[in-house]
Amino acid sequence: MLTAKPKPKRGFFIGVTCPGCGGTLELAENFFVLTCRYCGSALRITKPDIPPAYLIQSKVSGAEVRFHLDRYLKENSFPLSGSGLEIRPVYYPYWKVSAMVLKLRNRIEERELIPDETYDSYNTDMNNSKIRQRKTEIALTPFMTTFAAGQPRDDIPYSIGMRTEYIKMIPFAQENIEENFECLPVIKSWDDMQSNLTRNVDTVGKITQADFGKNKTELFNPNGSLVYFPYYMADISIGGKLHRIIIDGITGRVAIDNILTEIPEESPIVPKTPFEFGKLGVELHRCTNCGFDLPTKQSYIYICHNCRQLTLLEKHTLLQKSILSANMTDSGKSEQYFPFWALKLPQGSGRKLQILFGGIYQSDYLVIPAFRVANFEALHRLTKRISAGFAKMKFSEIDEFGANFMSVTLGPNEALALAQVVIYREKLSKNTNATYQKNELSPMELSLFFAPFHPDNYFYVDSVLNAVTFEKTLVD
Ligand SMILES: [Zn+2]
Ligand SMILES: [Zn+2]
Repeated sequence: MLTAKPKPKRGFFIGVTCPGCGGTLELAENFFVLTCRYCGSALRITKPDIPPAYLIQSKVSGAEVRFHLDRYLKENSFPLSGSGLEIRPVYYPYWKVSAMVLKLRNRIEERELIPDETYDSYNTDMNNSKIRQRKTEIALTPFMTTFAAGQPRDDIPYSIGMRTEYIKMIPFAQENIEENFECLPVIKSWDDMQSNLTRNVDTVGKITQADFGKNKTELFNPNGSLVYFPYYMADISIGGKLHRIIIDGITGRVAIDNILTEIPEESPIVPKTPFEFGKLGVELHRCTNCGFDLPTKQSYIYICHNCRQLTLLEKHTLLQKSILSANMTDSGKSEQYFPFWALKLPQGSGRKLQILFGGIYQSDYLVIPAFRVANFEALHRLTKRISAGFAKMKFSEIDEFGANFMSVTLGPNEALALAQVVIYREKLSKNTNATYQKNELSPMELSLFFAPFHPDNYFYVDSVLNAVTFEKTLVD
């Protein structure tokens, strides 16, 4: 069964405490509803509107740092550190960014010509028995990176790579800062970071030379958080030269060993008012109408078991209150109901979309999956198929989610942003000079519906039309 299979615990862990009993909670990113394992309360995590800040505490104690440092010195045939050595523990801030990247690559592919009479008609493109073909590849892929958020300096690594994906983080708060640790200031705001990133991604795109036309690399929906990472700094005189050695506070390894000609002046340009960061909150996960605990399945939408009231965790002005389910003529297969967001577009938009999506699409609705699909290219294909199928489905309103209903794990705001990118992706495949227009879609309504699918070999096939398919691996 699809719903019963827990995802391996991976990623981003933060600690917050239960409002019911004060117990410590542990959760992963994108996992915002949980049950307290001490008192059994149903809880949910509220995310701030501005990027939150986290802290990674050191795993290496002061005495261990000394040990790691001496080992490094010994390995390099340097004398061991003396007794008067001072080691300075610091946290350095990084931006962690996740986003999606659209890549367009124009390539000319050469193929050997197979000697065969039937190819005679292709002779126009022939060059020494090779065929040259123009090829445009477009792909949407996930993207994650970390960048220095403090003053750029050559004695601290510029990135901590992907380590935020598996190291435990806790909220950045005064009480979580370890003794003697100093927090180096953040000097790059989230806005600075976003424009930096767009420039960087653009530069990366220019490195790969297009065989014809222009290549594109564009970043969408960046999501940021700030992460303070622990380092130990030691200035040691070795053979008359002053070394600044930076030790990684998690592994104890020497990250950087710089010979200093002078002690660098520590006077970063600190913003007058320090940047503000968001904090995660915790609240009881209950129906506001009757007070019953809501199901602790991860979802953006819940229906109370007791009074049937709808709870929406993410608000949107266009969101319709009624939830629909596609009618099936004959059931009996092992159906799973998958959620989708239907965007009603202004009259006439349907015609434009029909040109983009091809003749099969005849509707003023664009449909985006309401469940997370890590493979954006597959999401793009499913969007086209379900958008075309949607117009042919009949629906009834529901006030209950059955056990075979999949959770809504993609919220309305993200769905709208994805819709824009899907349209852009499609425009590019028709015209590689197309440009992204942020408000190209102006939907009038946003509604949630469920459609039944059944497994068929490696695929799920919709049970209404028997036409919309997607790979099982997208959700397993
Ligand atoms: Zn509790
Ligand atoms: Zn209720």
